[in-house]
Amino acid sequence: MKLNIIIPCFNEEEVLEESYKRFVTVMSKVSYDYSMIFVNDGSHDKTLDILKKLAENDNRVSVISFSRNFGHQNAVSAALHHTDGDAAVIIDADLQDPPEEIPKMVEKWQTTGCNIVYAVRESRKGESFLKLMTAKLYYRTLNAFSEYAFPVDTGDFRLVDRAVIDTFARFPEKHKYLRGLFSWMGFHQEPHYYKREERFAGNTKYSLAKMVHLAAVGIFGFSKKPLKIAISLGILCIFFAIILIIWMICLNIFRPEQIVPGWSSTIFIVLLMGGIQLFTIGILGEYIGNIFDETKNRPEYIIKDKINLK
Ligand code: UDP
Ligand code: MG
Repeated sequence: MKLNIIIPCFNEEEVLEESYKRFVTVMSKVSYDYSMIFVNDGSHDKTLDILKKLAENDNRVSVISFSRNFGHQNAVSAALHHTDGDAAVIIDADLQDPPEEIPKMVEKWQTTGCNIVYAVRESRKGESFLKLMTAKLYYRTLNAFSEYAFPVDTGDFRLVDRAVIDTFARFPEKHKYLRGLFSWMGFHQEPHYYKREERFAGNTKYSLAKMVHLAAVGIFGFSKKPLKIAISLGILCIFFAIILIIWMICLNIFRPEQIVPGWSSTIFIVLLMGGIQLFTIGILGEYIGNIFDETKNRPEYIIKDKINLK
């Protein structure tokens, strides 16, 4: 049995040496073979230098280095495309997901005979109130919108076996929302509950823009409901417009003295209609943008260097 540990890294110079030590310590207690695939996602600090040094001294360390920053989801995809084990664990570099959970997830995989063990956060330390609330809200909105049920409070920290990795290799889509794809695949999946720790050092590498992008990839990649909402909003507007017209006609006939040539109502309608139109065009734009990206057919990531990898 061989396990690949997948670790995406973007400007993680402050944590890498410590993370490596923790991984090695934890894995020294298991009897199976393992390797660590670090992906340098276009870092501009010393991440690549540190990874090179680790790989030089330990041949269980392999490195994939991107030509620029392609994002966390693409970093994980690249590593999955380069696995050679019977299973792989996807884990963050910052020790928020404790490496000590890895052997437990492997054990669950082996005892239950499942294909995926997904880690569910029982608690999260060191996150801002805003992040916790938006994350909670997001996972629940995604479920309400999507035709599939996704486990809530679950990130990308998970174990996937060879069958899942091989299936994943057949997915040609460009904007991958990994946690969504893995649940969508089916197979036998088991949860593993754990407590998420604080980041060991440094700051989050998920900027607000990156988080909003990931959220949009999730919603617009797994649900057609926003399109339906646009239609419903349109119908609602037409309905209100009709009521308003009827009311105006009645007012004209029965209480003509009450008619004020008011501009406020006009402005209100113009604003409302304008807003709804922009909103629906925006939704259409998201889907068209997705189609545009898929048809360009560009690679999801560009690898500049590989160390200890075929
Ligand atoms: N990461 C990456 N590319 C990016 C952003 C993040 O490879 O563009 C990596 C990062 O180095 C870390 C993991 O993805 O190992 C999760 O990021 P982070 O811990 O910053 O996110 P958070 O836990 O704050 O949501
Ligand atoms: Mg983190």
